[in-house]
Amino acid sequence: MNYDVIIIGAGPGGIFSAYELSKKAPSLKVAVFEGGNELKKRCCPIDGDKIKSCIGCKSCSIMSGFGGAGAFSDGKYNITNDFGGTLFEYIGKRRALELMHYVDEINMRFGGEGTKLYSTAGSKFKKVCMQNGLHLLDASVRHLGTDINYVVLENVYNELKDKVDFYFNTPVERIEIIENGYRILTDKDSYTCEKCIVSVGRSGSKWMEHVCNELDIPTKSNRVDIGVRVELPAEIFSHLTDELYESKIVYRTEKYGDRVRTFCMNPKGAVVSENTNGIVTVNGHSYEDPKKQTQNTNFALLVAKHFSEPFRDSNGYGESIARLSNMLGGGIIVQRFGDLIRGKRSTPARIEESFTTPTLNATPGDLSLVLPKRILDGIIEMIYALDKIAPGTANEDTLLYGVEVKFYNMEVEVDKTLQSRYKGLYIIGDGSGITHSLSHASASGVHVARDIAEKL
Ligand SMILES: Cc1cc2nc3c(=O)[nH]c(=O)nc-3n(C[C@H](O)[C@H](O)[C@H](O)COP(=O)(O)OP(=O)(O)OC[C@H]3O[C@@H](n4cnc5c(N)ncnc54)[C@H](O)[C@@H]3O)c2cc1C
Repeated sequence: MNYDVIIIGAGPGGIFSAYELSKKAPSLKVAVFEGGNELKKRCCPIDGDKIKSCIGCKSCSIMSGFGGAGAFSDGKYNITNDFGGTLFEYIGKRRALELMHYVDEINMRFGGEGTKLYSTAGSKFKKVCMQNGLHLLDASVRHLGTDINYVVLENVYNELKDKVDFYFNTPVERIEIIENGYRILTDKDSYTCEKCIVSVGRSGSKWMEHVCNELDIPTKSNRVDIGVRVELPAEIFSHLTDELYESKIVYRTEKYGDRVRTFCMNPKGAVVSENTNGIVTVNGHSYEDPKKQTQNTNFALLVAKHFSEPFRDSNGYGESIARLSNMLGGGIIVQRFGDLIRGKRSTPARIEESFTTPTLNATPGDLSLVLPKRILDGIIEMIYALDKIAPGTANEDTLLYGVEVKFYNMEVEVDKTLQSRYKGLYIIGDGSGITHSLSHASASGVHVARDIAEKL
């Protein structure tokens, strides 16, 4: 089967490539290959009753399928060059922001209308943070919420399904270079195309590495972010979340000078587990619908770890820490801040007594047996710093879930059109190591689609 363009991966990067191609070059024959299910068939078997924790499905419904890793996410589209990726280094700051705004407009057209756009511009919290050794990063945040995010994806799929050939449950195994294009191989068939967009996200990181080795595409080691997810009563952070929804706050530790940052804040949300290549880590999300909201707010506290030569495997380092926590806790570990400070493990009885009710059924344990001292010290320091702007953060009953690990793909060498050393082979989204967010991944998809539409 021959196509003009084949897209590998139906996450935000792949979807926005397909969408933009359907608008800018509707005559092109386009196919999308996705290892996971179509949206409506994506269902995690954990029901909290018969199946309480991750059973390691062949393709994780949380991470894979139409919508990619973001399908059940909180749907926070951060419109900023300050975090979420380094797309601007390739395409320029202005263009990156323009594309993120364009993505936002499409999301609004496909069901997101009426959702709130928060902004740090002019916020009084900037000053309050600075006065306490904390730094609030600039951003506009469109919060779709898990439910509206799903509706938007559903509508975009309905728009695309008759214009693009979708192959679900069809992981691509290999990419071969042929004359005038590429051949992609699945376990059953092979397909050819003139242009190929690879957008395989974090779940495709190992595969991406393999492809780069096979095709001799240069890569650079990236970083890994390691930390915990903090959960506390929503009232403690409500003054910040009501105004900003998501506040990205950075703190430099006194002890080591390391940077610790808040990440993925979910007001009235739930803590969730996720499975990346068999490793269970913690994450969080929240709903726009008040009926689905909880009493708690959660956010991650992460420390970035960069390695220099000879060690290149930053993801391997993060995986080992996550594996250790999985080994001790059988999955996610939860500990009260008070227990951590006193050097005690949390027990089911102590969690039961806690005034903060956990939203994830995790194993009570001791995070100090899992996290390296330097990382844990940084997290504890930041909790005390946050306590100054949100008193109560350092309460005994604040819950810490571990471990949260943000894996980044190796950074793949691409040019400003996001093409690899092979012309026509584009590598975008989180799979390229360049983006780490919904808005940046989506913007990278629009960017390459426009380039292809111009060229074909
Ligand atoms: C629980 C959770 C919450 C999040 N919340 C937010 C948030 O609120 N805001 C935000 O900005 N970001 C959030 N993120 C991150 C965001 O989801 C990602 O940055 C974004 O989805 C990246 O898009 P992508 O298209 O590059 O990759 P992905 O979304 O990971 O999509 C890649 C797709 O490729 C498929 N694939 C992989 N390998 C192959 C192969 N060999 N063949 C075929 N298909 C393949 C995968 O199955 C997957 O569906 C969250 C992530 C998670 C897991």
